[in-house]
Amino acid sequence: MSKKYNPQIIEEKWQKHWEKEGVFKVGEDRTRRKYYLLEMFPYPSGKIHMGHVRNYSIGDVVARYKRMRGYNVLHPMGWDAFGLPAENAAIERGVHPAIWTSENIAHMKKQLKRMGFSYDWDREFATCDPAYYRWEQLFFIWMYEKGLAYKKKAEVNWCPQCRTVLANEQVEAGQCWRCSARVEEQVREQWFFRITDYVEELLSYCDKLPGWPERVIAMQKNWIGKSCGCEIDFPRADGRGAIKVFTTRQDTLYGATFMLVAAEHPLVMELVQGTSREAEVRAFVEKVKKQDKIMRTSESYEKEGLFLDAYCKNPVTDRMMPIYAANFVLADYGTGCVMAVPTHDQRDFEFARKFGLPLVVVIQPRDNPLDPGEMTAAYVDEGILVNSGSFDGMENLKALDAIAAHLEATGRGKKTVQYRLRDWGISRQRYWGAPIPMIICDSCGTMPADEADLPVVLPHDVDLTGEGGSPLAGKRAFVEAACPRCGQTAKRETDTMDTFVESSWYFNRYCSAHFTERPGIDRAKVDYWMPVDQYIGGIEHAILHLLYARFYTKMLRDFGVLGVDEPFTNLLTQGMVCKETMRCGAHGYLFPSEAKEGKCSHCGGEVTIGKTEKMSKSLKNVVDPDYLIKEYGADTVRLFCLFAAPPEKDLEWSDQGVEGAFRFLNRAWHIIMDYLDNIEGVEPFRGGEGLEGELRALRRKTHQTIKKVTVDIEERFHFNTAISAVMELVNLLYQIKRPSRGDKTAFSVIRETVEAIVLLLAPIVPHITEELSLQLGYAQGLADAPWPAYDPFVAAEEEITIVIQVNGKVRSRITVPVDEDGENIKTMALTDEKAGKFIEGKKVAKVIYVPKRLVNIVTQG
Ligand SMILES: [Zn+2]
Ligand SMILES: [Zn+2]
Ligand SMILES: [Zn+2]
Repeated sequence: MSKKYNPQIIEEKWQKHWEKEGVFKVGEDRTRRKYYLLEMFPYPSGKIHMGHVRNYSIGDVVARYKRMRGYNVLHPMGWDAFGLPAENAAIERGVHPAIWTSENIAHMKKQLKRMGFSYDWDREFATCDPAYYRWEQLFFIWMYEKGLAYKKKAEVNWCPQCRTVLANEQVEAGQCWRCSARVEEQVREQWFFRITDYVEELLSYCDKLPGWPERVIAMQKNWIGKSCGCEIDFPRADGRGAIKVFTTRQDTLYGATFMLVAAEHPLVMELVQGTSREAEVRAFVEKVKKQDKIMRTSESYEKEGLFLDAYCKNPVTDRMMPIYAANFVLADYGTGCVMAVPTHDQRDFEFARKFGLPLVVVIQPRDNPLDPGEMTAAYVDEGILVNSGSFDGMENLKALDAIAAHLEATGRGKKTVQYRLRDWGISRQRYWGAPIPMIICDSCGTMPADEADLPVVLPHDVDLTGEGGSPLAGKRAFVEAACPRCGQTAKRETDTMDTFVESSWYFNRYCSAHFTERPGIDRAKVDYWMPVDQYIGGIEHAILHLLYARFYTKMLRDFGVLGVDEPFTNLLTQGMVCKETMRCGAHGYLFPSEAKEGKCSHCGGEVTIGKTEKMSKSLKNVVDPDYLIKEYGADTVRLFCLFAAPPEKDLEWSDQGVEGAFRFLNRAWHIIMDYLDNIEGVEPFRGGEGLEGELRALRRKTHQTIKKVTVDIEERFHFNTAISAVMELVNLLYQIKRPSRGDKTAFSVIRETVEAIVLLLAPIVPHITEELSLQLGYAQGLADAPWPAYDPFVAAEEEITIVIQVNGKVRSRITVPVDEDGENIKTMALTDEKAGKFIEGKKVAKVIYVPKRLVNIVTQG
């Protein structure tokens, strides 16, 4: 065996071994506790990037650690394979999406294998496989039959760049989540999933997920956006019914002095129809429609409005309220109409000031009463009701309930609950997605395809031009289908499903990945494995993916497909991988290779080091995992990713950090190899004999390290501090004096330490540790080796008592760790309170330390 650490040879050797022996294949074993560890599956974009490497390295440590703790661990991997990039690649380069996708999968799979991740590859699948999406189509049909999938004309978010509809969740600040193009509004027939049927359960279960980060729970709750309030009727002055308003601030009702209506609301045009104002109002409505929805509702946006020459009546004060169309009110929140209380709402306040509308204070702070004429901003805090009829003098929080009850009793309103969550629009006018299994017949209407005809397979030969509409619509062989009811030629639905549908249930499929019977999920197996014990992925999925996955789980439970309420017991959202950026004034972002000694290699100009940002191709601050593996090996890459930062924090890239990780593995390798001849065949020390000195300290450190690493992984996933503890142990092994050849006890202590190092590092750097373990004489492999245990008595920090003398007389005693440094003990003695009384005002001549026994302070005169 070569003494040199050669990761390339070792790593490939062990990867082959794991594969050949099927080490990570698992089945249901009812005699052991199960543990389902899952990382969010990747989109096969072409290459694994550092973000993937970090995500999967974190997952792999946990999976391997749990195996060593005796769990039956399921750790699968697959491919979220439908989606736009495949289609765009097809348009740009003329490669079929299916071929592009499968080539990418093959390449990325090779990369993942080269990282040594402990996946059960037998469970691998890609969501673009009809064997997968046929079950998704079956679920769709069930949803349709239960009214959970429905089609309606709806104003949708349309991305002109991607040429498809986007879900609300996929629009970020008015822009497409994928390509950042400005999203437009269009009215189209769309398929929706009635996620709102589950809104209360989705919300209440947020409080039953203690294993989720609070931040993610808050984001889910906020997205669901439940608000309890009142629906109030404001009678129209023209006698034609009432305007319904939803408010959570019914305590301010007596201060409502005008009415605001969303510009898009049908009422706006209705009020001015046939009047001289019609054209002017229409122009205003069109103008507002072009404004960005998010911008419109932001505090700072210019408030625009138009009086509609119409009035309604405040139901409690009978005040006539002018009705305005306004740009900052949205049609799809609440009822699209807002009672304006300018004294207690800042936007209403600004609007009232701009249009000279009346202000009536109805909530007074206790200390300094408000004067409407003097107000420079709305008063939004708590206080006591005034100008509010019989509610005067009541605390405003109490008035919420009291006024709601009053409105209900007098038939002018009722308590209601509103949610921000909307149904999930899943129609996409794109090719590379799962077909929606519906048929539209001219005589019979819309109906599901026959179950016997599933899967409705996506046709292979289509023309992808990227020009408008669904590419499937032009494909006669696909579109024409016999009506399941009357047999006449009917049309298939040509929209495909949002790719978030596939990722909403894939974790169930891993439990029986190749199950061919209806409904594609083996109940006994899914009952054994689900829920996922630990889910790991990026924070960017904190809303959409997780909400959809929770919805699907609840729905599939109600269909009898599975038995859990929630899919993911624990969730870890790992931070990003970041690196500094470099720029040249003339050439923009530069690769490190384009910046030699601070100069741009193109123009010689000064290179400025920019902000540290998430690695991205456009910022040219990416690091290629392939290069790192070739240079240092997978173990070094894994170690660096885990050591550089705790998992939930961002990881800042550092070349020195990678070098450091590589150096540490070499150090560990060499010290163990150095001792190999002496410790071969030696039993590890198991106690019994009293140890002294360095050996005693080494053994204590060994047990302390086992304890620390166990706690750090088990309780907090803090691999960085765990690794640094092992590094200290390796350092100590370097520091001790090499025992003489025949010192069996010494070598058995060293053997115990070496074994601990190997086992503790095994989940983190599995290849080098397998090799070292083999060198130490274990033929079993480490995947199922038991995790080391520590002896709390050995691990306990030992303490001794030191006597403090002043001029030879015992004056005090202190307790210190057994290996405390002599200089520290002298300092402690000099600052000791009791001893201090005897040296007060005197000059200390010298301090004598007798190791492990006493300190004598000698004073002058
Ligand atoms: Zn887009
Ligand atoms: Zn028909
Ligand atoms: Zn340049």
